[in-house]
Amino acid sequence: MPELPEVETVCRGLSKALKNATITAVEQRRADLRAPMPHNLPRKLKGQAITAIDRRAKYIQIHLDGGSVLLLHLGMSGRMVIGKHDDQTGKHDHLVFHFNNGVTVRFNDPRRFGLCDLVNAQRIQNHPWFAHLGIEPLTSALTLDWLRQALRGRKTNIKTFLLDQRRIVGIGNIYASEALYRAGIRPTRSCGSLKPDEVTRLVTAIRKVLKAAIAAGGSTLRDYRKADGELGYFQHQFAVYDRAGMACPDCTCDIAKTGGIKRVTQGGRSSFYCATRQS
Ligand SMILES: [Zn+2]
Repeated sequence: MPELPEVETVCRGLSKALKNATITAVEQRRADLRAPMPHNLPRKLKGQAITAIDRRAKYIQIHLDGGSVLLLHLGMSGRMVIGKHDDQTGKHDHLVFHFNNGVTVRFNDPRRFGLCDLVNAQRIQNHPWFAHLGIEPLTSALTLDWLRQALRGRKTNIKTFLLDQRRIVGIGNIYASEALYRAGIRPTRSCGSLKPDEVTRLVTAIRKVLKAAIAAGGSTLRDYRKADGELGYFQHQFAVYDRAGMACPDCTCDIAKTGGIKRVTQGGRSSFYCATRQS
């Protein structure tokens, strides 16, 4: 499932490919994804120019000159694929956008957990999808004071807290494990048990892992036309995520004795940590 860095990479890739572009046609190949799509979407979008593309949480916001915003969410398996007009349309390409610069963008989503809506820019903050979203971790909203306050007295474990989109948006299973590794905190610790220096390390770690992942994604964007045009899922080296039994980077422990990186299940999802470096 794409997390904040992957969605950010998709937005940057789309911005690059669609600078000053106007939508010439849209093919809507089904009526719904996880929820119904807007009626007459092709007619509403035709002729509109893109003014900006950015994101809120994991929603892609395509700003249009008519004053509306096309919202897209990639769900579990959604991808945005950049190509040319005459590329073959695949079975899971649910929306195909054609632009006046010769570019075609396909929203491909085999599992159809994605979302699409067209909303008035003035009223976007009141959209039900945005109503319960927490703070953006890469803005000045994530401060030491904010996190200290949010964790105080809380009995839930820190991993579950990091995944809660009502608190902080965009962090999923991968970057929660990676941030906790970098901060030296076990995912099973209760929020309220974190010491002041651990909270400080966690704020820094969250920012660092997300920024490093965005940088890694950015470096793949240069080549997006060479590959299959798919945006957002890039090769990235993880320290602990999905590496059970292996040594963490710079591990000082003897993994023949410790068994290497540990995997635990929390709330039905896997967490990964090094028992030597995380306490
Ligand atoms: Zn280790």
